[in-house]
Amino acid sequence: MNTLVDSFGRQIQYVRLAVTDRCNLRCKYCMPAHGIDIVPRKELLTFKEMYRLIRVLTELGVNKVRLTGGEPFVRKDFIGFLEMLSYNDLLETINITTNGALITNHIEALEKLEKVKNINLSIDSLQPKKFAEITRRDVFAEVYKTLELLEESTLNLKLNVVIQSGINTDEIVDFVRLTRDKKLAIRFIEEMPFNGKGQREMEENWTFNKILNEIKTEFNIQEMPSEKSSTSRNYSIEGHKGSIGIIPAFTRTICNDCNRIRITSTGTFKNCLFDDGVFNLRDFIRNGASNDDLKELFLSLVKEKPKNGFIAEANRTKGSVSESMSTIGG
Ligand code: SAM
Ligand code: SF4
Repeated sequence: MNTLVDSFGRQIQYVRLAVTDRCNLRCKYCMPAHGIDIVPRKELLTFKEMYRLIRVLTELGVNKVRLTGGEPFVRKDFIGFLEMLSYNDLLETINITTNGALITNHIEALEKLEKVKNINLSIDSLQPKKFAEITRRDVFAEVYKTLELLEESTLNLKLNVVIQSGINTDEIVDFVRLTRDKKLAIRFIEEMPFNGKGQREMEENWTFNKILNEIKTEFNIQEMPSEKSSTSRNYSIEGHKGSIGIIPAFTRTICNDCNRIRITSTGTFKNCLFDDGVFNLRDFIRNGASNDDLKELFLSLVKEKPKNGFIAEANRTKGSVSESMSTIGG
């Protein structure tokens, strides 16, 4: 079988697919208060088009998909799409990233879907008022309810916490404390300039090492073995049910073992979060491309995967990084 291998010998096995660019929240690090300019519905990939793209990718060795957005649960009949994707016998794992404000009624349905294994829930503050300031919406109670329901469910729960200088840095240890009694994995993420505007003013630069040192002020942590392609470095704490990890999303020390590609909600293929999109798959399939055409295309596109996110950023032709994560699919 022909599989997706880039020019550095990295085997591509994981695709991140944004199922929509729409979102019910307005997180300050992701988009401006008025939201982003969403595209007309017909420019979004349909679920059938997404199914087809994923099917072809799995025939080339991809076995894992992460569904993200925008907010995936904003898209009508997202659960139906998950059921459809589950029919793909070559796909082993479906992971979902969500803000959790719309999913309490869907948790049972998610548990029934065998391939849906990991849910990443984004929650950047444990204080309702601060949470509302960050997301510009008053939904903390609902999101925390989701957290508790997911923790009790059969699904693996990870919390995504974007570390925002001077805003939630004082809560890093509070989040770590949560892992004492809750079986969940916290992922602290370095903030990136993907917010619709570009680099935000920061009091201090909260990089991987600074986050790690903050955790160490209160906890004795041990590094855990992680999968080679893991985006985070992970740690356990004796006596804690859960674990913690840090994602060097901006300092990009994880690129060497990257096994990921991305497809945006409008069908743009991306080899790296930091590139500016290398091919429009939507137009290619709407113009009649066959599955063999798609295979040939994917095999050649991944050969252009840059060595790391710094090179991807330097090669951009559409200006510096500033697009919203909700259009790229975080
Ligand atoms: N709406 C869903 C959510 O918030 O979980 C999924 C899409 S969101 C773009 C995916 C992830 O990207 C979230 O965990 C979010 O916190 C993260 N994210 C968004 N903007 C970011 C930024 N500028 N820097 C770092 N992470 C960001
Ligand atoms: Fe929406 Fe997620 Fe972006 Fe927040 S981070 S605005 S929830 S897409």
